[in-house]
Amino acid sequence: MSKVRVRFAPSPTGPLHLGGARTALYDYLFAKNKGGDFVLRIEDTDTTRFVEGAEDYIMEALEWCGIIPDESPKHGGPYGPYRQSERRDIYDRYTEAILKTDYAYMAFDTAEELDAIRSEYEARGEVFSYDNKTRNTLRNSISLSEEEVQQLLDAKTPFVVRFKMPFDRTLNLEDIIRGKFSVNTNVLDDKVLVKNDGMPTYHFANIIDDHEMKITHVIRGEEWLPSMGLHVLLYEAMGWEAPEFAHLSLILKPEGKGKLSKRDGDKFGFPVFPLDFKDPVTGVVSKGYREEGYLPEAFVNFLALLGWSPADDKEILSLEDMTKEFDLYKVHKAGARFSKEKAEWFNHQYLQKKSDTELMKMLKASTPNVDVVSEASLLKVIGLMKERATFPKDIYENGKFFFEAPTTYDEKALKKAWNDETPALMSELANLLQNLEVFEANPIKEAVHHFTEEKGLGMGKVMMPLRLSLVGELKGPDVPDIIEILGKEESVARIQNAVKNIH
Ligand code: GLU
Repeated sequence: MSKVRVRFAPSPTGPLHLGGARTALYDYLFAKNKGGDFVLRIEDTDTTRFVEGAEDYIMEALEWCGIIPDESPKHGGPYGPYRQSERRDIYDRYTEAILKTDYAYMAFDTAEELDAIRSEYEARGEVFSYDNKTRNTLRNSISLSEEEVQQLLDAKTPFVVRFKMPFDRTLNLEDIIRGKFSVNTNVLDDKVLVKNDGMPTYHFANIIDDHEMKITHVIRGEEWLPSMGLHVLLYEAMGWEAPEFAHLSLILKPEGKGKLSKRDGDKFGFPVFPLDFKDPVTGVVSKGYREEGYLPEAFVNFLALLGWSPADDKEILSLEDMTKEFDLYKVHKAGARFSKEKAEWFNHQYLQKKSDTELMKMLKASTPNVDVVSEASLLKVIGLMKERATFPKDIYENGKFFFEAPTTYDEKALKKAWNDETPALMSELANLLQNLEVFEANPIKEAVHHFTEEKGLGMGKVMMPLRLSLVGELKGPDVPDIIEILGKEESVARIQNAVKNIH
């Protein structure tokens, strides 16, 4: 068997959405599982939909995920160029070749003529299709005589090349994920293969490139399933062996019905793109997982499981583990429901695996406010707070009191924790802390316990107002840990402030 070669073939029409990123991931996992090559090809023949920056975005998103192409416009390779806009001479050769077969013809109908026919059909409540039933009534090299065609060509009349869909043939197709199915050619139209400027359309360029680049497996989104019949016939027309096909099901909305859209992301507050993308025309920024605080390992892991389950229903898998286990035959036929909670769960899991030092780097990058405390203190805060964090920034948000003294005190907590005796008690405690020599959580804890016992008070009577003075509310990790990290000066100042300001 020839070496497995899989391509990801996005069009640079905007940022890669989750579905596209998952296609790229499955392309990569399948190729690598088989010891094959993963190719990135940019399908930019439709210049009207080209978006500045989209190609760089796609490359950067793949790199962030750790999906590095073996061949691409950036990496080069033996089958380049890898941008369709640079392959015109190759397409020209094959345009000439297919016109010599009985599978293609030249069509001279102008856009205005076709619009007029479409309107006539619409007026009768019908839909016009350029196909094996109508082509004889239209202006093309099948309906016109050889002389008429020659005259049109001599007059340099623009024409498109159309595929001549065979009449009433049943195509027996096979998809790796969906199994066998049949299509009758009478439901397919005569697609344009080459536009009147000589540039091939997606269908023609796609099969030429897949053949030229020796692609063995076409793994792509299910929106291309209706094109599979045409593509198989195009391979037949060119006398080439078709690759195998696998069409991936959709990623569905969180409620389970319909394709996940950017609007769902805005509505439920999660990104649908791997990285932030700034629209070059409108300047509008679409949110990305990277900027939201997702770790690439978590992103890739949850993405892979949207549509595929590894053996034993394992959930935490590295890209390497997934590469070993990936099986296209086990990819689900049904759509995969996106869950924000699940995505966050994965991020939480991966965040716990990071060392405190790594988290410190991330936290400093996302939340520069943390720089008000020393690195040594920051590392302690991270150690205490990471267990409850999903994103690096949660460490700051849940532990804001480490970085800023409270300026207000929670009303409800005040009622519960503060009474007439509290100010005197807290002042005494502040003094006690001031005189403590070893300022670490354990001695602090012992000192506070001792103080409480001596006073014959219950623990809550001292711990609650103490916490309130330090944090501003009744939350956070153990009080002695908080005091150690804040340090003597800051802790004492906060307690004195509370005594002064709470009435
Ligand atoms: N350029 C197509 C897209 O962006 C590729 C489809 C295919 O993989 O054949 O979806």
